[in-house]
Amino acid sequence: MSSRLLAPVVEHVPEGIVAVALPTPFPVGDVNCYLLLDEPLTVVDPGMRWADSTDILTAALREVGRELADVDQVVVTHGHPDHFGAAGWLAEVADAPVLCGRAEVPKVTGAAANRPALLELAGRLGLPDSLRATAGAFFQDVRHLAHPIDEGRLRLLDDGDLLAAGGRDWRVHVTPGHAVGHVSLFDADARVLVSGDHLLASVTPNPVLEPDPAYPDGRRRSLVEYLASLERFVRLDPLVVLPGHGPRFSAVATLVHTTRRHHARRAADIARLVRRLGDATVYELASELFPEARDFSVLLGISEVVGHLDLLEDEGRVARSGNDRGRYVLT
Ligand SMILES: [Zn+2]
Repeated sequence: MSSRLLAPVVEHVPEGIVAVALPTPFPVGDVNCYLLLDEPLTVVDPGMRWADSTDILTAALREVGRELADVDQVVVTHGHPDHFGAAGWLAEVADAPVLCGRAEVPKVTGAAANRPALLELAGRLGLPDSLRATAGAFFQDVRHLAHPIDEGRLRLLDDGDLLAAGGRDWRVHVTPGHAVGHVSLFDADARVLVSGDHLLASVTPNPVLEPDPAYPDGRRRSLVEYLASLERFVRLDPLVVLPGHGPRFSAVATLVHTTRRHHARRAADIARLVRRLGDATVYELASELFPEARDFSVLLGISEVVGHLDLLEDEGRVARSGNDRGRYVLT
């Protein structure tokens, strides 16, 4: 994570699109919701049912002469509560479908809302039981803010799909990394990219741990997959990127270059830490790197560290210690 901007800011919003900043209770701050105004009237990432968020969304629609009931469809870029929390509510009010990436279904329907597999995985990476309980309580709290979406309302998006929304034709890009079924939308005619949390100018997206029993460690290799996805967005070469948080921006090639350099440096930091600690669990490394992390941030710290350990392991710079899948040593 880095606090300076990673790409040049673009002030203007493409025609027929309204950007609405909605508050969230999380450290990330506001989430960017987008109204795609022409037919079919589409709301991308309607935020959470928290504070006056839904009032702000309602007022933004009224300002362009529309009502909540006019919304034809809701798009959720990924199943994190700051993005999908109010989608189920909006879909019910508007009697509209919710479109999301196929792999995000367990998160948005609440089937995986308590994230037991994620907590179990974190335990295997060294997270102490007491902190697992705290993180579990966080998920329980968030459930009240993120309304589960009725499965009957979902329309599933796959990589390569074409989506008509707001008078434009969008190509669907499903790219794992921040979330396994993360959806970005690209209008190739106007070269506008709605990037969710996959590309952000304000921070490097966290490669969030994704449990997956089909993989050898019971998890996806989120950062490896994330980095592998970036070249496709460089090739799209959007004129403007509309992200899930922070300012609009251009120059994706610059952003990607800076992002790669950031991760190479962070990997080097973690290699030095592995050398210093000797034989350490992922949690021990994360708590050295992020001593201030609490609650859910502890899981983000673990995600960040394990992601870079995957990179270091691919380069042959670290190895697992003995049979313990959660401990690493320098090679
Ligand atoms: Zn987000």
